[in-house]
Amino acid sequence: MKKIKLITFDLDDTFWDINPVIISAERSTRDFLEGYIGKQEWGSMSDFLIFRKKLIETDPSFEWDIKGLRRAIYQKKILEAGYSQENSEELVNKCYKFFLKKRHEVTFYKNVFEAVEELSTSYSLGVLTNGNADINHFGIGKHFDFSISSYDVKSNKPEKGHFIAAKNKYDNLEYDEIIHIGDHPINDVKGALDLGINAIWFNGSNENWEEESIKEPLQFDDWSKITKLIESNDE
Ligand SMILES: [Mg+2]
Repeated sequence: MKKIKLITFDLDDTFWDINPVIISAERSTRDFLEGYIGKQEWGSMSDFLIFRKKLIETDPSFEWDIKGLRRAIYQKKILEAGYSQENSEELVNKCYKFFLKKRHEVTFYKNVFEAVEELSTSYSLGVLTNGNADINHFGIGKHFDFSISSYDVKSNKPEKGHFIAAKNKYDNLEYDEIIHIGDHPINDVKGALDLGINAIWFNGSNENWEEESIKEPLQFDDWSKITKLIESNDE
């Protein structure tokens, strides 16, 4: 690795386990909405995916605008319950706000805070997320120079948008002076490598590397190990 100047981080499944958080946020937002419009039939996961696909067909921006997608789902329910378009807006806003609050009720993996704080003393730090969590919602937000979401760059990792935007935050920064850290072999590791960014795989559950076309990357399973891993590979 060349001398590293910037380290970027994925959030979901890299700093915390996202699945239980989303399931619980989803469930409680449904209860919250039903408090206004009465019991609803929410359908299965596959109904949800079909609805999402239909929305994306009508408006491709739903691919990267998960806020809009979520709002559209609440709006559909509210309209079906007999609200007018106009009257639905306020309730959609309330639901989304409620969801977003619950979505931030995450439990950070062990040693993330310590690692971020330590790395921030030697490197610039940034966030690159396909999700809609806001790092500034948490105390460690102060260690990050920036946070880039899919909405900001109108695309999802592994597309290049997030990575290019991160590089462009600084003058004279080269791609090989960046490390990106994330849990996803394609979205994070491949996405970064495609541009010549160094990638480190957060492999929290000790999976095997299955992407045969990509050389197995540097990896770690505990945030207490990251600083040493970077330093031992930084020239
Ligand atoms: Mg992730």
